[in-house]
Amino acid sequence: MTWFIIGIVVLLLIILGCSLWIVKLTKQEKEYMEVSNQYLKDIGKSYTKEEFSIAIFELYRNIIQAVQDENYLYLREALSDEIYNSYLMAIKNSKERHAKTIVEDMNPIFSKLISLAVKDNMEIAKVWLKVSYHEYIIDTTPPKPEELGMRMEPRVIGGSKTKLLEKEYILTLVKTRAEKESVVCANCGYVTNIVTRNACVRCGANIVSRHYHWVMVAKEETRTSSK
Ligand SMILES: [Zn+2]
Repeated sequence: MTWFIIGIVVLLLIILGCSLWIVKLTKQEKEYMEVSNQYLKDIGKSYTKEEFSIAIFELYRNIIQAVQDENYLYLREALSDEIYNSYLMAIKNSKERHAKTIVEDMNPIFSKLISLAVKDNMEIAKVWLKVSYHEYIIDTTPPKPEELGMRMEPRVIGGSKTKLLEKEYILTLVKTRAEKESVVCANCGYVTNIVTRNACVRCGANIVSRHYHWVMVAKEETRTSSK
């Protein structure tokens, strides 16, 4: 009898092992080539691929934060009309459901510049980004009259504050080609090499119009996993 149970357990372990192996085989890792720093230099860039891809990660994190803060002014500047409208719809839908998605502790696992093309008057960049973060949904139903004045922690109705999510995207960004790559702030003199917003990072003065800084035009999810 004991041998029979051991036999079954061994058999199950073998089946489990085989299925895990098959899953691993079918889930082939997709690898994208990074552009080289020499290439960036050749097309007249004053930044490295590392500097660029981390700036784009920060831009992406700011966009996600702006969605939560409903900072429409920022989103309008950082996104194409199409993506802006889709985020707007998402915000509106969650409001109607009295729910709000919170994203916290976003960190890059990697961020790689996989393409930077200069076409006529446009520059198009693709960044392969993998991030980790916590995501949960809180209930935003207005308090009942008897609950008014009571301080209550918002109720978590989905996701998890502790489970770390990992997501991978290909972000596409565009900007109008500028004569000079670096922008000097007229107000404080700060020099910005990778322009990801219209305002100066030091003093907040307007440095460029929307066309001359990187705007996110597409976000394609490539893989989802969680730990
Ligand atoms: Zn400034």
